[in-house]
Amino acid sequence: MKLTHYTIILLQVVVFTCASPALAKSPQKAAIQIILDNAYHKFKKQNPGENADYIPALAKVDPTYFGLALVTTDGKIYSAGDVSQPFSIQSISKVFTLSLAMEQNGPQVIVDKIGVNATGLAFNSVTAIEQNKARSVNPLVNAGAIAAVSLLDGKNEKAKWSGLSAWYNKFANRKLNVLEDVYQSETDTNGHNRAIAELLTSYDRFYGDVDTNLAVYTRQCSVAVTAKDLAVMASVFANNGIHPLTKKRLMSSDNVSRVLAVMTTAGLYENSGQWAYQVGLPAKSGVGGGIIAVSPGQFSVAVFSPRLDSAGNSIRAQQAIDFIAEQLNANIF
Ligand code: GLN
Repeated sequence: MKLTHYTIILLQVVVFTCASPALAKSPQKAAIQIILDNAYHKFKKQNPGENADYIPALAKVDPTYFGLALVTTDGKIYSAGDVSQPFSIQSISKVFTLSLAMEQNGPQVIVDKIGVNATGLAFNSVTAIEQNKARSVNPLVNAGAIAAVSLLDGKNEKAKWSGLSAWYNKFANRKLNVLEDVYQSETDTNGHNRAIAELLTSYDRFYGDVDTNLAVYTRQCSVAVTAKDLAVMASVFANNGIHPLTKKRLMSSDNVSRVLAVMTTAGLYENSGQWAYQVGLPAKSGVGGGIIAVSPGQFSVAVFSPRLDSAGNSIRAQQAIDFIAEQLNANIF
């Protein structure tokens, strides 16, 4: 066959379309805004579930907040609803702490010293540690996340926090603050996490002082973010480690794949399998009501809505991301 000029252009279009399935099959990028607006209106009125209340400050958050943001790998930002409302990042922080622990120690240390298998149990499960002979968990449940803090560089609490907060700021592309009332509230009621850290210590699966690392972990969970911040932060994972806004590489693409793998198997705790089955995107939730999800090479999305299901995952955020992912044909499986 003789290739004419037009055939070559046609072939290029086909190749490009196949290379970026999620955004190519779906509407033009301008239509992403309509999809976010539709998600907002579709789920605005139904608001089932309950705020987390085991951290008293979270019970007081207005449950009607609903914010959605999406960032594409070419750095375009879309949003709908309460996207400028700050809330505590909670367990979504775990993926960023894991990223730093990996960058500092290498990925194998995470496997050897924490574990990377799903526990299939609640995020704060003690049983998960007890029933596994190697005391292996993963960095996205409390046990593994507090242990990940214990692996971070820094000789004391101040040094550790300064390294970790600077790392979060790079992802957010701005300086993030801590919600001091949330930090205090969680510190005052932190007996369960302290027990987890002590238990890990007793099994030689904790790598520093309990008080120091628990304080840093509690502080990281109390970082104030907006839905827009979270989408910007997660866009680094969508873009293989390079920040779509600053164009700076924050982490190796090898480590990004590993973070996304753990998000896929454990990001929504014991509901992660159901989430992968239904939505098909690596994601991470927090009891503050946020969820991030990543479409590798395409976009990140973050939704904030405080009311949770029994596993601790925001119900409306799950529904909205499910809808958006479906509209954008983003299921990676
Ligand atoms: N700070 C919370 C805790 O340690 C985080 C839990 C979560 O968001 N699932 O319990």
